[in-house]
Amino acid sequence: MVTKPVKPAITGSESGASLDRHWTQSIVGRADCANCGGERLGDFCAHCGQQFFETRLHFWELVQNLLSRVTDIERGLLFTVINMFTRPGGVCRDYVSGKQKPYINPLTYFFLGAALQVFAFWWVADELRSRMVAELNKHQLIRNEEANAKLEELLGQPMAEALMDSYVSAILQGYTYVGLFSFVVPFAVWLWLFHSSTGEKFQVGETAVFGLYSFGQILVLTAVFGLVTFHLGNNIHLLMATSVYALFPQFAHTGFFDASWTSRLLTLLATLLAWCTFVLGIMIMFALSFFLRVLWAAQMG
Ligand SMILES: [Zn+2]
Repeated sequence: MVTKPVKPAITGSESGASLDRHWTQSIVGRADCANCGGERLGDFCAHCGQQFFETRLHFWELVQNLLSRVTDIERGLLFTVINMFTRPGGVCRDYVSGKQKPYINPLTYFFLGAALQVFAFWWVADELRSRMVAELNKHQLIRNEEANAKLEELLGQPMAEALMDSYVSAILQGYTYVGLFSFVVPFAVWLWLFHSSTGEKFQVGETAVFGLYSFGQILVLTAVFGLVTFHLGNNIHLLMATSVYALFPQFAHTGFFDASWTSRLLTLLATLLAWCTFVLGIMIMFALSFFLRVLWAAQMG
């Protein structure tokens, strides 16, 4: 029987460790949960799951506790990564169905992918920078020679390099909150809207789980493949990235959404639409970053 938690009665002051009955004496053998005051069920609190202490916390128990926490997290991470490679749709379905314990949560997975991207980006940043600057220098970016010189003087930097800095900043933001709001959120809404309209009764929270795990894995895959394809030229790199963005959600579709072709096409359409807002989001961040720099330089100058 699960009882409502009751606030533990505060007896005396919290610091009130009077010597005749020290607070440490009541650690073992208490009837109510030390965390929420709930009822005991076996070794755990029936309400919040906090484990009851059978003995006082000896040093080696503390070490074991902390180590098992660390390996629990590592086991969850490894299990999630392996399953995201082999049965991503199953991971999303398990999580949405309430089987969450074996996995690291979808937002953490997204940030893991983002961290990998930032690392991969940092790895190739110097080469990317010189490549982009060389490309930008082929074109006259601002037609008016005088305006260009004035702007470069204001920024204290050649135009191509200033643009490159803003671009890098926009891309890095694309892997974090810009990615969340311009890819994952629209993706979840489109998936929910499309699949619900054909009779697959989803909630937005459920399609958002699919969106977070999928985008997280897309970031993992493009980061890993990117380290190779980056050196094979821009076209191959772009082809790799486009394929991963288009195909991974199709792979994850299996086991989460309906197996019909209509359902598959709707997932593809949702992916495309989310990708558009994602690119738009990065472009807005790029323009905003450059505009703010010019504005700031103008204020200072
Ligand atoms: Zn409790």
